[in-house]
Amino acid sequence: MTSPISRRMFFALSASVVVVACSKNESSTEPAPDSSAASTSVAPTTSPVPQTDLTSDPFTLGVASGDPTDQSVILWTRLAVDSLNGGGMPAQDIEVLWEVSSTDTFDDIVSSGLATAEERFGHTVHIDVPLSTGESIVFYRFRIGDYVSPIGKTRLSSPSGSTTPIKVAAVSCQNYTDGFYNAYADLVEQSPDLVTFLGDYIYESGVGTLDATTVRLHNSDEIKDLVAYRNRYALYRSDPLLQAAHAECPWVITWDDHEVENNYANLTPQDSADAEGHAARRAAAYQAWWEHMPVRLGPPTDESLTIYRQFSWGDLLNLLVVDGRQYRDDQACGDAVLSTQPACDEALDPARTMLGAGQEQWFSDNINDTTKVWNVMANQTVMTDIRLGAAVLNYDQWDGYAPDRNRILSDIVDQGVENFVVLTGDIHLAGVGQLTTDSNPTTAMGAEFVSTSISSSGNVSTDTEGLLIALPNIIDAETSHRGYTLHTVTANDWTAEYRIVDNNLVEGSTTSVWKTFKVTAGSPAVTQI
Ligand code: FE
Ligand code: CA
Repeated sequence: MTSPISRRMFFALSASVVVVACSKNESSTEPAPDSSAASTSVAPTTSPVPQTDLTSDPFTLGVASGDPTDQSVILWTRLAVDSLNGGGMPAQDIEVLWEVSSTDTFDDIVSSGLATAEERFGHTVHIDVPLSTGESIVFYRFRIGDYVSPIGKTRLSSPSGSTTPIKVAAVSCQNYTDGFYNAYADLVEQSPDLVTFLGDYIYESGVGTLDATTVRLHNSDEIKDLVAYRNRYALYRSDPLLQAAHAECPWVITWDDHEVENNYANLTPQDSADAEGHAARRAAAYQAWWEHMPVRLGPPTDESLTIYRQFSWGDLLNLLVVDGRQYRDDQACGDAVLSTQPACDEALDPARTMLGAGQEQWFSDNINDTTKVWNVMANQTVMTDIRLGAAVLNYDQWDGYAPDRNRILSDIVDQGVENFVVLTGDIHLAGVGQLTTDSNPTTAMGAEFVSTSISSSGNVSTDTEGLLIALPNIIDAETSHRGYTLHTVTANDWTAEYRIVDNNLVEGSTTSVWKTFKVTAGSPAVTQI
């Protein structure tokens, strides 16, 4: 379907508009991070292609788009002629041309302009491009001299009033060393409208050793400074299947722990011996994450970065993307792993928090959008109650913050929020859970769909599969395959198709459906179909 607004009208409307990159997230009530620092401003134009002295292709890391509204979308690229070694670019800001077209041959440019790849941000480009293309797919690319980037596809979110069904892929945990990105080849074939990334985009660990379960190596020792984090993002983004998945559709991305360090909690590192320097390490990691993600956010201005934000899609989705890492209290009870002893008193302290007071209030204020069918939380760690009696099997997940979880879920019940769905990653297994409050532990008040990892090795033994499924709030689980979940969302139902890779240690291994589950609007019960 083509836009009712013609290309000429669009230019007439937009010719005098100067768009500031990384503008405030208009759909969020939260104060946006300072956007003035991201001075990459663009004015829609038919500018000539900037000339360059570069002697090799700077578009080695592909393109990406993200954080769509029904008005604009963020387009991303990074200039890097030597991406694994700091970028290899001249120490100066560099202008690039961006173009958006209704065709992949770019013979119908609907918008274009110049953007500045700033040296201080690793020559990354984030531009917020206003479009009037409605629900149509558009194509975009970047140009400098004779170099042309790969072509990306993107779109706006559907405007209010639309109930056109959408496909949303939920993905997480892509440890480069543990397996191949076969799931992304399938994702591109499935052609989703949106990808939600739920954390662990990179892993911080060292080089590793090739063996039966380590099929590729990292490019350095454990990463701790800005250059090392940049080089790690570049390694991951050098994968053609990951590049293709970014080029397929817009992404909405949040982080978990490994974007900084395993199981860190706010300003507390996993290992207390690393306390000195953790804040600086986290700041470097946050900056590199911001640089490489197509997010509608300004760059970090101090040692923190506010990334929780709200999206909407037609009359179907109210989507709250949360940050369960930056504000949380340290894991309780020494973060004991798979302990079957009753949890220590600390885990039962209602003052402990996963989201932090400010984010929890924002969540409460925004989760109930009565104009949308589905109220959705895109989240890092498992929210379904998987406690074994009084024992907490994993203190890093919501079970380790059980009073906080109960406060948030009880608030959702009290507000009368309808059709509450949680999308989760982290645990490297496929799971389906029902959410309950402590006062009503046998009545589902929402559904949780846990995607397995794209490539990170399974961290729950396959012989615990039966034990997991036997837990009262777990509907089903599959622990031995990698993959993702493809959600089809309509005004009547939410269908979660769990797609798993046959053998992710083999390049080119194929993907098939494990099982498909459904929630019908008006009833939180999950059924297998
Ligand atoms: Fe992970
Ligand atoms: Ca994680």
